[in-house]
Amino acid sequence: MQMVDLKSQYHRIKTEIDEAVLHVLEHAQFINGPEVREFQQALERYLDIPHVIPCANGTDALQIALMALDCKPGDEIIVPAFTYVATAEVIALLQLRPVMIDVDYDSFNCTPELIRQAITPKTKAIVPVHLFGQVAEMQGILDLAGKLHIPVIEDNAQAIGADYVFADGKKQKAGTLGHIGCTSFFPSKNLGCYGDGGAMMCRDEALAEKLRTIANHGQRKRYYHDLIGVNSRLDSIQAAVLRIKLGHLDEYCRARQNVAYAYNEGFKDIPFLCTPAESPHSTHVYHQYTLKVVDGRRDALASFLTAEGIPNMIYYPVPLYDQEAFKPFRGKVDFLPVTDRLCKEVISLPIHTEMKAHDQEKVIDTVRRFFIDTE
Ligand SMILES: *Cc1c(COP(=O)(O)O)cnc(C)c1O
Repeated sequence: MQMVDLKSQYHRIKTEIDEAVLHVLEHAQFINGPEVREFQQALERYLDIPHVIPCANGTDALQIALMALDCKPGDEIIVPAFTYVATAEVIALLQLRPVMIDVDYDSFNCTPELIRQAITPKTKAIVPVHLFGQVAEMQGILDLAGKLHIPVIEDNAQAIGADYVFADGKKQKAGTLGHIGCTSFFPSKNLGCYGDGGAMMCRDEALAEKLRTIANHGQRKRYYHDLIGVNSRLDSIQAAVLRIKLGHLDEYCRARQNVAYAYNEGFKDIPFLCTPAESPHSTHVYHQYTLKVVDGRRDALASFLTAEGIPNMIYYPVPLYDQEAFKPFRGKVDFLPVTDRLCKEVISLPIHTEMKAHDQEKVIDTVRRFFIDTE
């Protein structure tokens, strides 16, 4: 058993994928081949957004998005402390200051109120992360940011395909809500390619042009460089794979939801286990199925599962502010209670589109045995 079974997923769509990849090998336009534009347009249609700008990976997407905002060294960027390192790394890399904030215990996401408390005159952007497949409370975040004219960059690496539901019932896709949305097509993400890939999304034409320019060595016209940029491209083979997998994304999201609901059912009577909460303002696409072990035995459970051959992961074991590399960026933050608690309580179980019922029963049974036999 694995956390994610990409091999079985490939085998279900092998005919389509092989044909598309072989087609790239034959036309040999490995960079900027027609597949890149086709995928870009297909993703624009799926997300219902005018501009998708493909790039090399999700980390680059975040970096390019920040570069497009023309920040000055020392400007502050608000970011949750409970996230994957990439969200904050690019901030530090650009000589900006990551201002780390706490998250909500139930949703794992930052909230408008936590953001509000961290805003100063130096705040130049807010980067909410839609962690584990569920969208942060974007309506409140956008209202707050809009009043103060602060751009919002969504880190949507984990929630592509999720719908945000506004108070009036209107739905909008994750990654299309902020000033710029960023995503990753790393193989294990919900929409993953067979290597590295990423993209930015935005509504504003001029901003899209700027993002595209930065991603392409700052050149608008070949060999004329208007901006300092980077080299960040999605290659044709990855785009060909993504084009096909995008057609399956909704079905993949449903498959993950079904796995999550079966886990919830299997764990509902275990008192020390807190199953993931679904927020009223977002669908959940379960990039991860993350439990909280509230009786202090998370590490014991992890060891037990590993010994029994059940894959499990701790996303994430260390708050950003306690990471060696981020200590110089802590500022006034040296402890955030919810982040600290989550790092000690969370454990993620296998979830993917190809989960077999008997494998899942084995996972559920093993977790239950841990709590029931060791009581
Ligand atoms: C995966 C991920 C990234 C980075 O994506 P890469 O394509 O690996 O660079 C950024 N943020 C979050 C929350 C992620 O999960």
